[in-house]
Amino acid sequence: MATETAPLSWFASFKLTFVRWLDSHAGVTAEMDTDESIDYFKAFPFLMMHLACFAVIWVGWSWPAVIFAVSLYVIRMFAITGIYHRYFAHRTFKMNRFWQFAFAVLGNSSAQRGPLWWASHHRHHHRYSDQPEDLHSPLQRGFWWSHMFWFLSRSNYRTRLEDIPDMAKFPELVWLDRFDMVVPFALGTFSFFFGLLLQHLNFDTSAGQMLVWFFISTICLAHGTFTINSLSHVFGWRRYETTDTSRNNPLLAIVTMGEGWHNNHHHYQSCARQGFRWYEYDITWYILCGLSAVGIVRDMKPIPSHLRKNGPDGHQVPGKSVPAKAEECAHELLDGLPSLSPKPT
Ligand SMILES: [Zn+2]
Ligand SMILES: [Zn+2]
Repeated sequence: MATETAPLSWFASFKLTFVRWLDSHAGVTAEMDTDESIDYFKAFPFLMMHLACFAVIWVGWSWPAVIFAVSLYVIRMFAITGIYHRYFAHRTFKMNRFWQFAFAVLGNSSAQRGPLWWASHHRHHHRYSDQPEDLHSPLQRGFWWSHMFWFLSRSNYRTRLEDIPDMAKFPELVWLDRFDMVVPFALGTFSFFFGLLLQHLNFDTSAGQMLVWFFISTICLAHGTFTINSLSHVFGWRRYETTDTSRNNPLLAIVTMGEGWHNNHHHYQSCARQGFRWYEYDITWYILCGLSAVGIVRDMKPIPSHLRKNGPDGHQVPGKSVPAKAEECAHELLDGLPSLSPKPT
């Protein structure tokens, strides 16, 4: 007679989950891909960070804390958009192995899981955009699922290594992906002691206040990023008749430092820039230009010429074109204003 497997006790489940907080690859199997239930134990740190933000009622604010939180938002949003998205998911430029890992660590500090997990799910999104297989389509599953429940679901815990073999060959990235709580925890700890240090130096802040503003920055960063999966497939306009519902949205392009030109991106995913017109601000692209100028980033893939010149594809203002290469971009930035003269394409 076959023996039945006894269900795990509450404590045993908690212990297993605790291990999985530390090791995100532990206990995750392909069989879970169809289990769409939410594991609240696993989601506990994410939910607690939301609650921790309310502690601002007690710790208050100060300029050092706010500047720290905004700086962390900007730096880490770049790491998500420029590195997790445009580098790991789409390979729109090149870096050497040192910088690849260093920026992966920076992206990981956003507490949005590891680079392989993030990029492999994003590749899946592009393959099945707004189709029933899409993991976070607002068209298929509604706002809240596309915004955050999709990644709290057991079905999406697993890093889809089969979708990212080109990056999974680097053991340091696999390690980072596996222990994806280490860096965010370290940054939170740093925030606490940084606050303590500033307090000792007579700045108007404290360890607790700096930690709470780290949580505020991290939660704003998370929901800012999530808008691209939820809102940018619903609100905005469509320049290109793609097979999905992606839209261009200038407000989301501010929040996400350039990712709001999502319809452009779905139409042509392989270039490092997502604003296809001079007026479509793309802060991530400007930072990539800076990194290119100092030699950290190279071989950025340009917007293809047929999308840059005037034509039936879009709404480009006559006589204006988009810089495609880093040098052109840097020139544009130095001039302060975009060039009004047409450039040869
Ligand atoms: Zn993409
Ligand atoms: Zn999309």
